Amino acid sequence: MLSKKTLFATLFAVCALSTVQAQTVDRRIRMNTVGFLPGFPKQATVAADFTKFWIYEAPNGKTSVYSGGTVSEPMNNPDTKEDGLRIADFSDFDKPGRYYILTDNTNIGRSPDFTVGGDVFTEPLRAAMLGFYLWRCGTAVSAYYDKKTYSHEVCHTKDGSLKYYTAGRSDGVGTKNGVGGWHDAGDYNKYIVNSGVTAALLLKAWEHFWHILENTPLISVPKSGTLPAYLTEVKWNLDWVRKMQFDDGRVSHKLSTLNFGGEVMPDKESETQYYAPWNTIASASFAGQTAIAARIYAPYDKAFADGCLAQAERSYRTVMDTSLVGVGNSLAFFNTGTYKEQIEDDGDKRLWAAAEMWETTGEPEYLRYTEDHLPKTVGTHITWGDVNTVAVLTYLNSRRGGRDPEKVRRMREELVSAADGLIDNAKAHSYARNLGSDSYYWGANGTVAGTAYILHSVYLQTGDPKYRHAIQDVAAHLLGRNCYGRSFVTGVGGNPPQNPHDRTSTASRTPWPGRLIGGPHSDKDSTKAPADIRQCATPATCWFDDTRDYWTNEVAINWNAALVYALAALTPGADTYPARPYPGQTVETELSVKRGAAPAKNGFKRTGTARVVKIWDGDRLDIPAGAKAYGLDGKLIAHKKSADGKTPAVGRKGVYLIKTDGLKD
Ligand SMILES: [Zn+2]
Repeated sequence: MLSKKTLFATLFAVCALSTVQAQTVDRRIRMNTVGFLPGFPKQATVAADFTKFWIYEAPNGKTSVYSGGTVSEPMNNPDTKEDGLRIADFSDFDKPGRYYILTDNTNIGRSPDFTVGGDVFTEPLRAAMLGFYLWRCGTAVSAYYDKKTYSHEVCHTKDGSLKYYTAGRSDGVGTKNGVGGWHDAGDYNKYIVNSGVTAALLLKAWEHFWHILENTPLISVPKSGTLPAYLTEVKWNLDWVRKMQFDDGRVSHKLSTLNFGGEVMPDKESETQYYAPWNTIASASFAGQTAIAARIYAPYDKAFADGCLAQAERSYRTVMDTSLVGVGNSLAFFNTGTYKEQIEDDGDKRLWAAAEMWETTGEPEYLRYTEDHLPKTVGTHITWGDVNTVAVLTYLNSRRGGRDPEKVRRMREELVSAADGLIDNAKAHSYARNLGSDSYYWGANGTVAGTAYILHSVYLQTGDPKYRHAIQDVAAHLLGRNCYGRSFVTGVGGNPPQNPHDRTSTASRTPWPGRLIGGPHSDKDSTKAPADIRQCATPATCWFDDTRDYWTNEVAINWNAALVYALAALTPGADTYPARPYPGQTVETELSVKRGAAPAKNGFKRTGTARVVKIWDGDRLDIPAGAKAYGLDGKLIAHKKSADGKTPAVGRKGVYLIKTDGLKD
């Protein structure tokens, strides 16, 4: 029996405890732990019952600054098998600052702190780029981030062995320089196909957001001469990629040890790395990534760009001209990552190579191949195994003329439909995950991030802000609005992964920052996965922050590239797309189509050719002085007489012929 004194003490302890609880971050409030952009929807998912909530200034504001939010009816989540989830919506709260949320249920603690601000995603973007810097191979790295230094000594400086390059038909001889690049993932090997989709997403991010990235300082990466820091970092890997090509245009699939190395720092891994045999998957992927690089780097480093283009053409010819479909069992020598579908299944890589070659050179041959091989639908899963959508987006986002308008229309419809499907999925999912219930697999977090490229492309084509809002939902899910209430990016946001499957993190006993982990799924190899990281109620709840769980807790360059795109798409100014000419090229179009805003001065080279251009509702033509625009019926509809003359608006959608004969540069 309790004495009065004991009873009082017990009650006091309970009260004190609930006060403490109210001040503790409660994982049941699941939201973007980084923050929100003003003017964008703002939601948190709460796995508990409540009817009202308030926003307070962090760290310990006592008076609420907002109380006007709405609370949804309880929802269930079929993926996680959770019931009674409620959405707190505070979309109209736009005041910049740092905040936390409390609800009227005193059993729920406080939310993670979050920021409302226009540049809230800039620091996470810099962290994600730091992730790449820290993957550098063939050099020492050192970076200071969040009060810690991350460093390793020079690693992997020996030339790779060619012993297995000939795929066992004979012992290859000699070595070849393959120093540089990024370590691929949690291991220290380097793979051309995964490098391909990585380069694609990073350089597409540059293509859409160069005006932001050019002025974004990176951690530990200075500008290199005239090369912006961002392109300096990406070039680190491209310099290695270029070494993987052989004189006949064939490209080795990977440079890898025979078995995965131990849990040591990269400079302590001394096993021989071998060139894997060539195949058409790697060679076509090589052509795709070097072709993009050729146009992106042209304004900054012409020699590098020209070299990339020459190599891209060589591998393209080798892939397209060969009757070989690769070397069947060639990779069996290795027990490291495969990054290989069926060896014959290289259609997506060929299409991508052709699309990038066309966008870079404007040669009709490449356009013809692209248009002849466009997929029937536009997929929403951009992965190393399927870059069809990367090719389609290059085709659709292009400002070059010459495309078949009917094919453009059809693919555009497919693209919009794919993006709408993503948005519908996110709306139906209490954590705004947009891939659908059947899409939990190795690296699916990277695929979620990669949808940002699809969504932003549709935004560029339609101008509808809902597609940009959906990108913030992508970031939200990855940064804490998930059933774990945790950020999936090391060193970023609230309660991030502490034990990623990553050799540098394990060997240095600290999680290396700026890396997106692969995410939950239950498709684990039951003969290898320890029982305690295999048992899950559902795939969506099957993530373990455990270094052994490489199925769900590994990091990888391709997922990080998708993350970089998503975060860059949310930086200030990302809603505009200043088109940019590629010096040294014959730019076929000398006009830009700009939606709802004054046309930018584009400085395009004028070729004197007539162009056909299609514009959508609300677009206007920015035509150079002297140019005349005709409708397809031959009627003159616009003529800009002089440089400072008024730009004639062509405010209705249609197909127009622009004549610029006689114009000078
Ligand atoms: Zn290395």
